[in-house]
Amino acid sequence: MSSTRPHHVAVVGSGPSGFYAAAALLDADLDVRVDVLDRLATPWGLVRGGVAPDHPKIKSVSAQYAKTAARDGFRFFGHVEVGACDGEAHEPGCGRVDRAELLERYDAVIYAVGSQTERRLDIPGEDLPGSIASVDFVGWYNGHPDHAGLEPALDSERAVVVGAGNVALDVARMLVLPVDDLRATDTADHALEALARSSVRKALVCGRRGAAQAAFTTTELRELDKITGLAVRADPEQVPEGMADDESLAKGTRRNLEALRRWATTEPDPQADREIAFRFLRSPVEIRGEDRVEEIVLAVNRLETGDDGRVRAVDTGERETVPTGLVVRAVGYRGLPLSGLPFDEATGTVPHAEGCVEGCAREYVAGWIKRGPSGIIGTNKKDAHETVRHVLADLAEQEPSDRPSLEDTEKWLRERCPELVDQAGWESIDAHECGRGDTDGRPRVKVIEREEFVRLASA
Ligand SMILES: Cc1cc2nc3c(=O)[nH]c(=O)nc-3n(C[C@H](O)[C@H](O)[C@H](O)COP(=O)(O)OP(=O)(O)OC[C@H]3O[C@@H](n4cnc5c(N)ncnc54)[C@H](O)[C@@H]3O)c2cc1C
Repeated sequence: MSSTRPHHVAVVGSGPSGFYAAAALLDADLDVRVDVLDRLATPWGLVRGGVAPDHPKIKSVSAQYAKTAARDGFRFFGHVEVGACDGEAHEPGCGRVDRAELLERYDAVIYAVGSQTERRLDIPGEDLPGSIASVDFVGWYNGHPDHAGLEPALDSERAVVVGAGNVALDVARMLVLPVDDLRATDTADHALEALARSSVRKALVCGRRGAAQAAFTTTELRELDKITGLAVRADPEQVPEGMADDESLAKGTRRNLEALRRWATTEPDPQADREIAFRFLRSPVEIRGEDRVEEIVLAVNRLETGDDGRVRAVDTGERETVPTGLVVRAVGYRGLPLSGLPFDEATGTVPHAEGCVEGCAREYVAGWIKRGPSGIIGTNKKDAHETVRHVLADLAEQEPSDRPSLEDTEKWLRERCPELVDQAGWESIDAHECGRGDTDGRPRVKVIEREEFVRLASA
């Protein structure tokens, strides 16, 4: 034990919000040391495991995080899972630690664990083989170890993607892009192999509400124009003339409507052999099939504006059936509770005041687990800074700590998590992945297996 040690903060989760929080803590006037813990061997959260591989520029934000990791006072510990044990005593070697143990060792704990699961549709047939959540599909093509074994059904010509946001667009693009366009990316090898055999040529993207309520960002939408051989279709009745001129709509929405109207009224290239089609005002009500997905039943909706001004989709009773062998549900990510921390089931987030967890002194949240799955990567910076302001103010008020030293805490983590991957271990993994990528003309070739991570990290 030491009574003069610097402030010691644990950040749980090494995605964007964890890294922005760590950087802000290291920038502070106080002497703060930061341990970033992650259940995976690899840092960067959804930048590695979510952002589409054909968006390497966006993924390159990881270079900023690598700079933070190189700063004095920063330590990374991968293969450390926090809070998933529900009060059971932890044995050495279990790979898990819980929040009470973190609070014994750290002066403050910031949870930046993101949204690890997905909202359900709650309709019959949702669990038929061939119906998958985007969190699984996205994780699969990005080489997330939890989802590597997915085996999506890619044997039908048309896939249906349920959802009208950027994740739905990513999924649709990844399904119809010619595999040769992905060979220079960090798409996981198992996904490249499966996509090379895929029969999917058409993706139907369905949104519950109208074209004006879709959550796509214009850049992602317009990017579809750049894909050679891709026909993009929309229904002219769903994007009528003049819709994009409505000045009461946000600028981004109007730009989206312009793009959709153009696609609705222009004949696509007759040579195009792939297709993404948009269909709005449709909600899935049933997924049908004998022992796998064969078709999806969509309710046809109309829009109604409530007293609160919110535009709602209302079922007209009309139904439409679309034959397909693959349904990808992209209706929103959702946070998971951390045992012992309060949790709001309705929003899938941890209740907090500006990042300070309600009723839990010295515990904080940042990123998607704090505000829900919305915004772009940069949104997490401001969000993490708000949280860190409170952490620093609280640390400045704390009595000098007699909690364990940095060395003791590392020893304890290593005992508990024998497969622990530290910063030097991650750098070996990174060098190996990038080295293989150099040979193949790709940013990196991802390692997937836990044993391989451990082997490389200790090499
Ligand atoms: C499919 C998809 C594509 C996206 N594409 C873009 C894009 O192109 N551009 C853009 O700006 N934004 C994009 N985003 C949004 C962006 O990825 C998020 O804003 C951002 O990743 C949220 O950061 P976070 O740190 O809160 O969560 P995450 O990035 O999810 O990081 C959470 C981390 O916590 C770890 N963790 C979770 N539970 C535990 C636990 N119990 N113990 C220890 N560690 C744990 C996880 O392993 C993970 O590393 C995309 C999101 C998705 C889902």
